[in-house]
Amino acid sequence: MDYVITPPAIPAVVVAGSENLFPLHRVYCVGRNYADHAIEMGHDPSREDPFFFKKSPDNLLASSNQDGGNIFPYPSESQDVHYEIELVVALSDGGSQIPVDKALDHIWGFAVGIDMTRRDLQAEAKKTGRPWDTAKAFDHSAPIGRLHPISETGIMNTGRIWLALNGDIRQDGNLNQLIWKIPELISYLSQLFTLKTGDLIFTGTPSGVGPVMKGDVLVGGIDGISGIKVTVS
Ligand code: MN
Repeated sequence: MDYVITPPAIPAVVVAGSENLFPLHRVYCVGRNYADHAIEMGHDPSREDPFFFKKSPDNLLASSNQDGGNIFPYPSESQDVHYEIELVVALSDGGSQIPVDKALDHIWGFAVGIDMTRRDLQAEAKKTGRPWDTAKAFDHSAPIGRLHPISETGIMNTGRIWLALNGDIRQDGNLNQLIWKIPELISYLSQLFTLKTGDLIFTGTPSGVGPVMKGDVLVGGIDGISGIKVTVS
């Protein structure tokens, strides 16, 4: 048996300081996981159950060089495209019904990512009770920096997470503000899906999200890992 057409390439993230690639399976994202961002979006910041949406693996915009620079083409059908800086967790393997105290064993590493969002389409979807896919899972909607193994970083449960727009700091939080912590997210997701090797989890964004325009430059980072730089074109 053989494929009737050439299979598409497997999307991948570059591992920091190497030419090695981390192959992608699925991209899970959690909504409203920092209290100050929940408040800015008009929601109650109390610890309600986490909720998830997905992007497609080929939505990833992997950094094209060691500085993490890349071009984000302004997407069609939106006049209000927002940045959301996030810690991204990469899984080495998966499973279902993973207990919280075993969750860290499934992490391969960490990267910084941006959950680019068509905010106008998301607002419409919220209003009409429709899915978020067109708001969240569009081409190039997930810029990502270099991936660092957990053997180098340790568990990333504290540290500054920030984003600057054209040199002005717009988001400035700390990973210790996560409402649902990384092991809890992995455990919770594994009740809903069978997690697998190559899965990513975007863990939510601190407050300060806002719109981009063509020509803008986004620079973001998390203490201890490679940063990210994206130019909107
Ligand atoms: Mn997000």
